[in-house]
Amino acid sequence: MIFQQGFHTLLDILKNFAALAYPETCCACGTVLITNEKHLCLHCRVLLPQTRFHKHRENQLTKIFWGRLRMETGTCLYYFQKRGKVQRLIHQFKYKGNTQLGFYLGQLLGRSIKSSPYYQDIDCIIPVPLHPKKERARGFNQSAVIAGGIASSLSVPCLTHLLVRKEYTETQTRKNRFNRWQNVADVFDTPEPDALINKSVLLIDDVITTGSTLEACAQNLLAIRGVRVWIATLAITIE
Ligand SMILES: [Zn+2]
Repeated sequence: MIFQQGFHTLLDILKNFAALAYPETCCACGTVLITNEKHLCLHCRVLLPQTRFHKHRENQLTKIFWGRLRMETGTCLYYFQKRGKVQRLIHQFKYKGNTQLGFYLGQLLGRSIKSSPYYQDIDCIIPVPLHPKKERARGFNQSAVIAGGIASSLSVPCLTHLLVRKEYTETQTRKNRFNRWQNVADVFDTPEPDALINKSVLLIDDVITTGSTLEACAQNLLAIRGVRVWIATLAITIE
């Protein structure tokens, strides 16, 4: 017993040393976190540029799809600025493999969605799929991680097998909008459409810029009888 107590004390001491040597830092600003802070310091939790789109049925995100897509409404957590803190956050998650951060940000987004009157009918959450090759290389699909966080906040299922990517598309960064659309229009598929009949689907991506990928995914879903589509992303790029 005395030995056990001594052992636990020793473990605590070691843990404290480890915390001193490798303190947990805020993923957005790098400040050392204090007790009860998780991934983000309180300062960043409050001051990161939140969109609050969930409070408005029509907003800058839904405007992207005007005349292009029959969707219910959409929201995102943050405004994305080049070299800003939100970019740093998303980089930590997407390219440094901090999936716990991605899940946590999904939970924050999910909480805002839960508080909104415009998202009460959601049956399931579907992430934009990555090509399996790309997912294997990265080790995870970032949209599926975010979707998992949202699903835990909303208590609805996250379904990753009902929307799939058919073929590999080369990097889209340097292409114009028209070519991008040509590129993504036919790459998604719904292998079990019957499972989605009459469902209200919340479609998830990490960052929205032109909306062409989300549009292509949503068109596939809307081709199924009775499907309604909502959209949510972590961040929006305002050009
Ligand atoms: Zn911070």
